[in-house]
Amino acid sequence: MTRTTRRHFLHLATATLGAAALTATPLRARTAPLDVVATTGMIADAARNVGGDLVDVTALMGPGVDPHSYRQTRSDIVALTRADAVLWHGLYLEAQMEEMLLKLADRGHVTAVGEAVPQDLLIGHEDYQGKFDPHVWMVPDLWAHVVRAVRDALSTAAPDHADTFAANAESHLAGIARLGDYARGVLDSVPGPSRVLLTAHDAFGYFGRAYDFEVVGIQGISTESEAGLNRIRTLVDMLVERDIRAVFVETSVSDRNIRALVEGAAARGHEVAIGGELFSDAMGEPGTYEGTYIGMIDHNATTIAGALGGEPPVRGMDGRLRAGL
Ligand SMILES: [Zn+2]
Repeated sequence: MTRTTRRHFLHLATATLGAAALTATPLRARTAPLDVVATTGMIADAARNVGGDLVDVTALMGPGVDPHSYRQTRSDIVALTRADAVLWHGLYLEAQMEEMLLKLADRGHVTAVGEAVPQDLLIGHEDYQGKFDPHVWMVPDLWAHVVRAVRDALSTAAPDHADTFAANAESHLAGIARLGDYARGVLDSVPGPSRVLLTAHDAFGYFGRAYDFEVVGIQGISTESEAGLNRIRTLVDMLVERDIRAVFVETSVSDRNIRALVEGAAARGHEVAIGGELFSDAMGEPGTYEGTYIGMIDHNATTIAGALGGEPPVRGMDGRLRAGL
């Protein structure tokens, strides 16, 4: 963005978005890192890996935050309008922010990186035609498309650094490919009848397709619909009839429904364990291994394989997972 369009943009943003008192920021020297704002932690992780020292990345949503229901704060709007590049997921993940982000997108340097996944690889939303399941980060092969889109967006924002971004992206993509191989290997070790993944909401559709698991979410693709008592009853029947021994809680969704299932099954004499906590729509704490994309998926694959009778290494791909999470 040139100085003039940037000022124009700030002015427009103040008028359109209305909520925050904005002051025009002085342009930083060209040597200052690129100011990148990402909606989810996963996208922020991709931007940090691709951008390295050349970017200063802020994630709007931290650990445990549910992107389906997250609504921007005033300080988010200030950060978004001041950023050199805004990276959001799209595919209707940020349902409550979409309108505002689309308005911002008219001004440039705003990219829905999740929408870089080719449409023939996307899973259609069962309730809405033309909408897709946004949870593409669950499978490293799909996430690689998003990492490349992050690389391209950063290169557009700072063309002088395109070569560095390309080299950083290659090395991160190599790590993601290795993660994909690890996930496939440990998940293959789960015996056939146990390949059922029951979680709080439908975040694991791509995971199930890629690794051949039947996936059942108590709530739908978004966490915004409530699960009724009938749904719980039907799922308790399924747990008992199919002898499913473990179900999973998610860090960004209330575990109320999962606990209701476990209690419902226990009342019928069928013991179901909580197989662990999965990172569905948010990563772990910043500064921890689980707070990175690779750590998040390593944790999920290792936890699922271990709880359902597979044989993963206890501490995951590189022995870096925390025990007993
Ligand atoms: Zn979700």
